Amino acid sequence: MMKMVRTIKYESDRVPGFGKEVMSVPGCEQLKSCIQCGTCSGVCPLSVYMDYSPRQVMELTRSDFKNEVLRSHTIWLCASCYACTVECPREIRITDIMYELKQRAIKERVYPPRFPIPVLAREFTDMVKKNGRITEMVLVMKLFLKTSWLAGMKNWRMGLDLMKTGRLSLVTEKIKARGDIARMLDTVDAKKEN
Ligand code: SF4
Ligand code: SF4
Repeated sequence: MMKMVRTIKYESDRVPGFGKEVMSVPGCEQLKSCIQCGTCSGVCPLSVYMDYSPRQVMELTRSDFKNEVLRSHTIWLCASCYACTVECPREIRITDIMYELKQRAIKERVYPPRFPIPVLAREFTDMVKKNGRITEMVLVMKLFLKTSWLAGMKNWRMGLDLMKTGRLSLVTEKIKARGDIARMLDTVDAKKEN
């Protein structure tokens, strides 16, 4: 279980404008009406493992504590179950806000050090953009090298067995129209920025 964060926050920790920026994204506007009731934290099945509860992430985001939310484990532990969004009395799309924060963290390459989930998300996206699809073996190797090579070593036998049965391959797989995929992803990114 992750230890809950109890550090005091100061005015100087804020990044002015961050909350407004997030609330200007379609779907995230309602955040401004959060009443800090805590329903989202209460219904979240994963909040006990999070460093900041969903309620805290909402307030930290709205109050410009950019570094705290982008570096938090919470946004990566969110399983997108939408329980919080369904129950929120102010109809705040908490899950979508979590997605927005994750995207910002990936883009700015700001996340908890050696934490595997964001590394996996970034490597996955980079690989799809480059090859049009992923090659599981290469993805897993990159993940272990960038997080815990020791964990990779411990799983070498399983990797070998999967290779023997043809479930994993070292050959990088590519689609023909990979340029189209890259352009499509760039267009989505550009649209988000405008
Ligand atoms: S349930 Fe909605 S209103 Fe209540 S704290 Fe969470 S986001 Fe805010
Ligand atoms: S969507 Fe994420 S934050 Fe909301 S209840 Fe599910 S796991 Fe928790």
